[in-house]
Amino acid sequence: MIGSDTAGATALGLTGLERLERGARRIRVDDKRIINCRADLNQLVPFKYRWAWDKYLQGSANHWMPQEIPMARDIEMWRDPSGLTDDERTIVKRSLGFFSTADSLVANNLVLAAYRHITNPECRQYLLRQAFEEAVHTHAYQYVIESLGLDEALVFNMYREVPSVAAKAEWALPYTESLSDPGFHTGTRAADQRLLRDLIAFYVVFEGIFFYTGFSQVLSMGRRNKMTGTAEQFQYILRDESMHLNFGVDLINQIKAENPALWTEGFRAEARSIILEGMELEIAYARDTMPRGILGLNAAVMQEYLEFIANRRATQIGLDEPFAGAKNPLPWMSEIIDLKKEKNFFETRVIEYQTGGALTWD
Ligand code: FE
Repeated sequence: MIGSDTAGATALGLTGLERLERGARRIRVDDKRIINCRADLNQLVPFKYRWAWDKYLQGSANHWMPQEIPMARDIEMWRDPSGLTDDERTIVKRSLGFFSTADSLVANNLVLAAYRHITNPECRQYLLRQAFEEAVHTHAYQYVIESLGLDEALVFNMYREVPSVAAKAEWALPYTESLSDPGFHTGTRAADQRLLRDLIAFYVVFEGIFFYTGFSQVLSMGRRNKMTGTAEQFQYILRDESMHLNFGVDLINQIKAENPALWTEGFRAEARSIILEGMELEIAYARDTMPRGILGLNAAVMQEYLEFIANRRATQIGLDEPFAGAKNPLPWMSEIIDLKKEKNFFETRVIEYQTGGALTWD
């Protein structure tokens, strides 16, 4: 234990910035907890949550940078008046409009709201990796916007100006606002549930549902040999995002396991309605961005796919399927998500590459 347990502060977790207690008892694995932990947060080991450390390693092994992806063909196609249909152009612009600010929102939630309350060093190690990946994603969108010569102000303002885009960001903000309040601390059931609610909203809905219409649209374009550079950027992002989602699911389930009192019937109902609300907004986004069928997709197919996704998200955190029996109408999306060591989907390079291998001194 570190610091002194004063009455009232006993339940609160540490931040890692407390005054040192020299000669304090060494940390044991059993001292570690995801939330409200009272053991020194500056010592990564002994590991308790291997899944978090493994995801940190995996995320780092997946390192990539946006400038590594050739964009010349996309630029040519974008400039060619007959290169893309108007509906296809709308999809590219809306996707960039939503994602260019969405990943900043996710990063700000991580760094300014969630991180402080996750009192475990191996989880924080992953959160730091994830935060960097969110920066890479924002960089990727900026890079595509710049490459195509799009109006930056138009694209970056879509989350305030295009209703179906704004609705998604607006829905998420209250969750992070309450946690980023400096006066907010975990340690009571209501506060711990508030944290859990934010994690469900951001990991399960924002990163787990809100990204999937845009991903499907842009990747479908790539499958048809259109905007392949942009589609490849999205493919790398999707791989990172699958990891973010899986980390979030593990995190939520670990908090539940350690704090079973949080997972009340009322809270489960709330978690379910958070997922359903998110679904409604994403379906509205699909309708707005696809007034007509396009690229083998349409709003009805997307709704079916989102129901399949929502079932998976719900069961992953221990809820019943809200859309029992929904089938996956886009099996190729699962193939892309599951892609590990095979050649890149768009066949421009091997997707699972390692950078910055070990240094040798001989
Ligand atoms: Fe993410």
